[in-house]
Amino acid sequence: FDELDSAERYVGGSWEDVRALFGGKGANLAEMVRIGVPVPPGFIVTTEACNVYLEAGGIFPEGMWDQVLQALHTIEADTGKTFGDPRQPLLVSCRSGAKFSMPGMMDTVLNIGLNDLTAQAMVNLTGDERFVFDAYRRLIQMFGSVVMGVADEVFEHVLTAARQKAGVTVESDLQAADWKEVTDRFKNVFRNHTQIDFPQDPLEQLRMATEAVFKSWNGKRAVDYRNAANIPHDLGTAVNIVTMVFGNMGNDCATGVAMTRNGSTGEPGLEGDFLINAQGEDVVAGIRMTEDITTMAASFPEAYEELCSIANKLELHYRDMQDMEFTIEKGKLWMLQTRDGKRTARAAVRIAVDMTREGLISMDQAVLRISPEQIDFFLHPQFDPAAIADARSHGRMVARGLNVSPGAAGGLVVFEADLAETWTKRDGKKVILVRPETKPDDVHGLLAAQGVLTSRGGRTSHAALVARQFGKPAVVGVAALEIDLSKREMRCGETLIREGDVISIDGNTGEVFLGELPTMLPDIKDPWLIDLLSWADEYRTLGVWANADYPEDARRARSYGAQGIGLCRSEHMFFETDRLPLFQKMIMARLPVDQREALDALLPFQRDDFAGLFREMDGMPVIIRLIDPPLHEFLPDLVELMGQLSDLKLRIRDAGTLPDIDALLEEIRIKERLREQAEKLKEQNPMLGMRGVRLGIHIPDLTKMQVRAIFEAACLVTREGVTVLPKIMIPLVGHANELKVQREALEAEAQAVMAEQNLKIDYKFGTMIELPRAALTADQIAEYAEFFSYGTNDLTQTTYGISRDDAESGFLIEYVGKGILPENPFATLDEDGVVQLMKIGVDKGRSVRPDLECGICGEHGGDPRSIALCHSLGLTYVSCSPFRVPIARLAAAHAAL
Ligand code: ADP
Ligand code: MG
Ligand code: MG
Repeated sequence: FDELDSAERYVGGSWEDVRALFGGKGANLAEMVRIGVPVPPGFIVTTEACNVYLEAGGIFPEGMWDQVLQALHTIEADTGKTFGDPRQPLLVSCRSGAKFSMPGMMDTVLNIGLNDLTAQAMVNLTGDERFVFDAYRRLIQMFGSVVMGVADEVFEHVLTAARQKAGVTVESDLQAADWKEVTDRFKNVFRNHTQIDFPQDPLEQLRMATEAVFKSWNGKRAVDYRNAANIPHDLGTAVNIVTMVFGNMGNDCATGVAMTRNGSTGEPGLEGDFLINAQGEDVVAGIRMTEDITTMAASFPEAYEELCSIANKLELHYRDMQDMEFTIEKGKLWMLQTRDGKRTARAAVRIAVDMTREGLISMDQAVLRISPEQIDFFLHPQFDPAAIADARSHGRMVARGLNVSPGAAGGLVVFEADLAETWTKRDGKKVILVRPETKPDDVHGLLAAQGVLTSRGGRTSHAALVARQFGKPAVVGVAALEIDLSKREMRCGETLIREGDVISIDGNTGEVFLGELPTMLPDIKDPWLIDLLSWADEYRTLGVWANADYPEDARRARSYGAQGIGLCRSEHMFFETDRLPLFQKMIMARLPVDQREALDALLPFQRDDFAGLFREMDGMPVIIRLIDPPLHEFLPDLVELMGQLSDLKLRIRDAGTLPDIDALLEEIRIKERLREQAEKLKEQNPMLGMRGVRLGIHIPDLTKMQVRAIFEAACLVTREGVTVLPKIMIPLVGHANELKVQREALEAEAQAVMAEQNLKIDYKFGTMIELPRAALTADQIAEYAEFFSYGTNDLTQTTYGISRDDAESGFLIEYVGKGILPENPFATLDEDGVVQLMKIGVDKGRSVRPDLECGICGEHGGDPRSIALCHSLGLTYVSCSPFRVPIARLAAAHAAL
C-alpha cells in the first residue's frame, strides 16, 4: 500500500488508470496510507494479474506468486508477525475489489493464516480462546463457501445446533468450548463436502483464496450485475491482501461503517452504525442490533474523535462525501475501506452546495456534480422517506433490482398487459405491471400501469427503455423474484405475492415494497436546489423558456425559472367545451357571414386567454403559434358519428310527441352536417396536409382573428401596466412565399388593431422551422421571419419520414432494441441528420439576419443531450415543458462548462 507513487508512475499517473489497475478498494487503501490515515499493512495483486490468470484458463502469471511472497515478507517485517508462525502468527484478509464497486457481487475471505497451530499461538497471545475459535470457525466457513463452493446452509445447520445445545438464542452468547466444537464440526463439514481436509498450510490458504477471488470475477452473480449495470467484462478484479485487525477481541474492540454526511438528506455530520466486540461483516449481516455511530463518542471517545478527524481529512482529500469501513482493535482505530458514498438526489444537491460553501469544491464543480436526472427527482412524486424507513425496518422491503426509471409507484400486482389495461380503464384501479420481461406487445399494459417491475433484463431492456420514455417508474432485473405466470403469483424469498396484492416500487432506489407507501411531491423550494440552479444560471449561455398554453402553466414555468414562453399552442383553447361548438360552426359555415359570426364569437375567448398569459409573463417574451393542426381534429371521429346517427334514427321511430321528433331531427341535421364536413376534410396524410400556414392562407379570417385577439389582449394589459412582448409564430412554412403572403395579411391586421387602440406594441413575426425545405432555404425565409423556432417533433418526423405517433409504440422500439437506431430520435435529437438541418437553418438564417433569434420548442428542448447539441448550434434558447425547466437550466450550464 505504501508504494502508490511508483505505481502511479507505472500507469502514467491518472487516477482513473490507478483505479483500473488496483481496483477502487485497493487504490483508496493505498491513497489513505499516502495521506497518513491508519490502514493495516497490506498489498494488492492487480487486475492485470487477474486478467492474465483468467485468459490463461486459471494459471497465475509468471512470477506473480514470488511477488506475493515478497510482499508478504514486507508485511511481516512491518507487523513483526510471520505468516504461519507458531508464536507470532500473521493473519490476513483476501478481498476482491474491481474498478467499479459491485456491492456484494464478489468475495472476501477473512482470518487467513489460522490453522490448528497458529490458533493455539493466538490463544497463548490473547488468552482469549473464545475469540480465537470464533475467528477460526469463520475462516473455515468463509473458505468453504467462497473458495470451495460449499452451501452456506450446511454451516448454518451446525450453528443452529450449537445454539440449541448451549441454550442461547444469539451467536454472541456462545462460549469458548462451543466455538471449539463448532470449529471441529466445520472441519468435518468441510471434508464431507469437498473431499479434502481444510488446508492447514497458510500459504495454500492464501493461494486458493486469491484464485477464488480472481474466479469470482466470472461468477454468475458478478456477470449478471455487470450486464445490468453496463460495466465492461474485461476489467478484472484486484485482490487486496490486508493484515487482519480484530474488532472482536473484547469490549475495547468494535467494528463499523460510517458516512461523512447523511446519505438521504445530505446533512453534515457522521452517520453510521457500529458494533462492540464484533467482526466486519456482522454489521451488515444484520444478526445483531447495531448502535448509532454517535454513541461511539461515549464508548470510544478517542477513537471517535480520530474517526471524525479522518472523515474530515478524507473529505478534504477526495472532495466528496465518503463511505468508510473501520475497526477498533484494543482501542486503536484502523480504516479498512473508503469510497465515494451513495446518496439520494436530494443529498447530492445539498452536499454539492454545502461543499462549495465550505471551500471544498468550486461552484462550477458543484454544478457539474449534479446530473439533470437528479433534478428530475425534485419534480416527481416520491415515497415519503419516513414511510420508506418504516417499511424497511418492518421487513416490507422484499427485493431490490435495478433503478432504471425514477419515481414512486404503488398499485395492484398484475401479471398481464391486457389485464393491466382492463383494471385501469374499466375499474379505475392503479396497477403495477409485473413480468419476467416485457415485449412490444406489452406496451399498452405498461402505459396503463403506474409502474413496471421485471425479474429479468437490464438498463437497456425493453421495459427500461419504454418506462423511461414514458416517465413510468420502473424496477427491472429483480433476480430474487420468482414469477409463476400460470399460477399468477410470485415468490420473493419467503414472501408470496398474488395477482391483486398491493406493492410499491421505488424507481429511484430499485426497491420493492409490500403494500402501498404514501407519496409526496418533493419540494422544488429546497434552498440548496435553488442555490445550485442559480449558480447554473451564471454559467449557461442558452436561455430556458417554456411551452405553456394556459396562465397556470406559465406561472409554474416562471416559478421554475423560465425566461419566456417559447410555445403557446393557440388552438388548445378551441378544444374547451364552451368553444368547440363555435369552432365547429366556423368550420362548417357555408356562407362567409356565418363564418364571420363564429369567429367574432371566438375572439373574446382568445383575447382573454392571451391576456392571462401576458399578465403572468409580464416583461418576458411570449411566442404564440397560430393554429396548426388539421381541422378534422376539431370534429368528432367519423366512425363515432355514423354510430350516433344510426342511434338517433332508431330513436325517431320510438319518439312519441312532435316536439321530441323535432328536437331529434335538428340533432340529426347537425350531425349529418358534421359527418359531411368530416368526410370532406378527411385526408390520407393529415400530418402533411391542410394545416399550419396552409390553413392560414386557406381561411385568412381565422388567423386574422387570432392576431386581432393577440393585439387586443396586448393593448389591454399594456393599459394595466404590464410589459408585453408578443411574438407571432407561423407554423409549417416550407416556402418563403407562404410566409410572405401570410405575414402581410396578419401584419395589416396587427397595424389595424394598434391604430384602433392608439397604442404601439413591441411585437415580432417569426416562423417555425419544421420542414427540411424550410431549413434548406432558411435564408429566403429569414427575409420575412424575425425569429426561428425549431419544431423538432415535426422536423424529425419529416426528416426521417416517420410518423411519430404510430412508430413510437411500434417499430421504433424494435429498432432501438435491435440497435438499428442508437436511440429514439423523438427523445434525443438526431445529431447526424436533424441537427445538420438545424445547423444549415441557423447559418443561412443568420447570414441574412445576423441577430436572428433561434430557439427550439420540440420536446427535445427538455432533453439534456439535445440541450447540449442546441448549445453547440448557438441557439438563443430552448423551450420545454414547465416541469423540465429546472432540468434544462442545469443541462444548459453543463453544456457551457
Ligand atoms: P465488501 O467489498 O463486500 O465490503 P470487504 O473486502 O470490504 O468486502 O470485506 C468484508 C468485511 O470484512 C468488511 O466489513 C471489512 O471491513 C472486513 N475486513 C476486510 N478485511 C479486513 C481486515 N484485514 N481486518 C478486519 N476486517 C476486515
Ligand atoms: Mg467493504
Ligand atoms: Mg409542428
